[in-house]
Amino acid sequence: MTKTLTKNFIVLGIISVISLYLLIVPAHHSQEFLWFHLLLEFFSVAVAYSIAIQGWTIYRLTYSQKRLWVGASFLSVALFELFHTITFSNIIMTASNELIHLSSWFWLLARISAAIGIVLYLTLSDTKLTDQKGRLIYPGALLTSIIFIIAVLIWGQSLPALNRDVETSGVFHDIVDHSFFLLYAGMFIAVVQKYMTTKKQPYLTILFSLLFINLSDIILTMVINPSHNLIFLGHIYRALAYYFLLKAIFFQSDDSIENMVEQKDNDHLTGLPNRLLFKQKIQEQMRDHPQEATAVMSFDIDRFKKINDVLGHEKGDLILKEVVKKIKKILPQEMTLSRLGGDEFALLVPYISKTSLINLANNIIRELKKPVNLSNYEFELEINIGIACYPFDAKTPDDLIKNAGIAMLYGKKTNQPYTFFKQFMIDETQEKALIEQHLRKALEHNELSLVYQPQVNLKSKDIISMEALLRWDHKHLGSIPPGKFIPVAEESGLIIDIGKWVLRQACQQLHKWHSVGMTSLEVSVNISIRQFSQPDFVLYVKQIINETRIAPNKLTLEITESMTMDYESAIPILERLKQMGIKIAIDDFGTGYSSLSYLKKLPIDYLKIDRSFIQDIEKDADSCSIVETIISMAKHLKVEVIAEGIESREQLNLLLKKGCDHVQGFYLSKPLVPEKFKQQIEYIYKKII
Ligand code: C2E
Ligand code: MG
Ligand code: MG
Repeated sequence: MTKTLTKNFIVLGIISVISLYLLIVPAHHSQEFLWFHLLLEFFSVAVAYSIAIQGWTIYRLTYSQKRLWVGASFLSVALFELFHTITFSNIIMTASNELIHLSSWFWLLARISAAIGIVLYLTLSDTKLTDQKGRLIYPGALLTSIIFIIAVLIWGQSLPALNRDVETSGVFHDIVDHSFFLLYAGMFIAVVQKYMTTKKQPYLTILFSLLFINLSDIILTMVINPSHNLIFLGHIYRALAYYFLLKAIFFQSDDSIENMVEQKDNDHLTGLPNRLLFKQKIQEQMRDHPQEATAVMSFDIDRFKKINDVLGHEKGDLILKEVVKKIKKILPQEMTLSRLGGDEFALLVPYISKTSLINLANNIIRELKKPVNLSNYEFELEINIGIACYPFDAKTPDDLIKNAGIAMLYGKKTNQPYTFFKQFMIDETQEKALIEQHLRKALEHNELSLVYQPQVNLKSKDIISMEALLRWDHKHLGSIPPGKFIPVAEESGLIIDIGKWVLRQACQQLHKWHSVGMTSLEVSVNISIRQFSQPDFVLYVKQIINETRIAPNKLTLEITESMTMDYESAIPILERLKQMGIKIAIDDFGTGYSSLSYLKKLPIDYLKIDRSFIQDIEKDADSCSIVETIISMAKHLKVEVIAEGIESREQLNLLLKKGCDHVQGFYLSKPLVPEKFKQQIEYIYKKII
């Protein structure tokens, strides 16, 4: 016999002794006894209430619908019993017949709710509820109970009598009582059968509960005098019935509870282990096979957010399920796939060779590439896999998962299907994080400044424009090149504020130059893609122009090819800028993927040939012919050409010969702080001649 069973029988024994005593000892009919009765009633309310509380607490752990429903039923039991007790307490004071009547109706409602709770416990399957549905059940039960309580309080007097001491109660009362008796007896038999076949402890405890609830019902309905000894017994039985129920449902180890808790460690949607369980599995693998290399592969689905936005979350969920199905199909059994969250997945791979890891990664990528059909769309899912291995890349499950993630991000950036983690990636990530952290304060701390590089017209030999280039001097980190911090600013969104600052600063500088007589000078400002796609971009450009009182046709905005790829949305923006008189340059031209013909559609003024073509224009025939083609095409399109990165006289001469319009580069001038510009002008002019 198990320990709990022994305890149950001890409780049963004590109760039997008390019962016998109460049966033998003559009845007290004192007022004190009534108060004691009342106390017992409150005790039953407390036990019913704890079933409700437990139901909710366990639900938060297991999402078990069965326990939630039982808990909700007992919330009603507790409320009805409470009203029964309150109205009953008035009986002690006033002994009014009306209150006795109401009290007996609340008592009936409590019995019905308890019976519903027990029936639900025995019949409901133990599936998981979603959080959303689960949250509604308790308030639902509360509302229903309140409606019933109000109904009884208002219309209770017109309901048939239930207490036996009222003459008229006869038939209705008998039907109610017999029904409960039969219901509990039937349940008792069913549970005995269940217990015989399953031998599960909770069923035995439920049997005690059913036994006591039936005994309590019999006593409390048969005995009329509220201060009779047996009433006292009836209430003890009732509290015991609830107690056994509480124990059976919540405190006894039952497979389904364990299953549920296990499911809690699994992801709701896919049934895969979640991050917590995944970490445990890695830990176990490390502990059990410390000498073996264990790999974690990490991946997420490219453009998943877009799929979710376009098709909705339900379809997104279906895709995630499909991903799991596909991967599981090709996954050896000893490997654990986990959903870390969202569209992030990770795979725990016990020791296999590097070649096998690569094969596995390729198989997963290939499998996911096979089209998935959903809502008439065909999807090819693309992923990049990051791989980190214990013990070389990390010593803890957390670090292993993190480093696999870093490798994945690196792979995405460098366009590799799978990437093994390397320490430099973490350095790069840390450096980025550091830059971002300090960049947030850079504007506030006045660490940013602009330098200007002249662009010279080869025909007129005049400086036509100054390109504003951003500089960041950090107190401790020193000077950080734009190539390093601009991508971080873009990724983090900081470029929006920084970009506005640059534009305002450059326009103010232009205004200063104009006011000292250099009225033909123009300024060029680099615009990042993030700024360009801001809905209020054109508006704030306009505001800054007005604010700094410059002529819009003295401002050139440098954008890159990639910003114009989606020309359906780029063209209207460019056109609005052009209408204001602003000029547009395509920066770093030739490095993008765009076809030359698309340029025809864009309202632009300049093409800036990327430095990489100019660099070896004298030596490399290919670069030379590319530059030639760009220049002739630009002429055809009536767009002027600016060659970037001129570092020598030879390059300048060659470009002059090829008909290039403007040049910019170290040969003429490095980017200058504005104060130095004036004294450099003479030197620049000498170089052009
Ligand atoms: P970019 O717009 O193509 O700017 C030209 C870059 O080439 C500048 O680098 C300039 O210093 C450099 N350069 C000019 N002539 C020569 C030369 O003869 N030889 C060599 N080796 N380099 C030359 P910088 O200032 O480091 O800027 C790099 C990039 O950072 C810029 O390329 C631009 O894309 C971005 N950037 C700079 N300032 C800003 C800004 O205010 N906003 C945005 N969004 N991007 C900016
Ligand atoms: Mg530029
Ligand atoms: Mg450039």
